[in-house]
Amino acid sequence: MAYEFSCVDAGAACRAHLKADTQEELVEKVADHLKKKHKVQHVTNTLANYAIKVAKER
Ligand SMILES: [Zn+2]
Repeated sequence: MAYEFSCVDAGAACRAHLKADTQEELVEKVADHLKKKHKVQHVTNTLANYAIKVAKER
C-alpha cells in the first residue's frame, strides 16, 4: 500500500505530488516539501494529520 499526497488536494496552487510507502514517510516528505516550497517552518501534528487525511491510499 502506498500513499499519495497532492498539494492540490489540500487546496494549494502547487503541482507537487508526493508518494510514500508508509504514513510516517509521507508525513516526512510532506513536511520537507512544505518547508522548502511553502515556507512552513513548523509542521504541527494537526498539519501532519491533515496530510494523512487528504493522502490517497493506493
Ligand atoms: Zn506544494
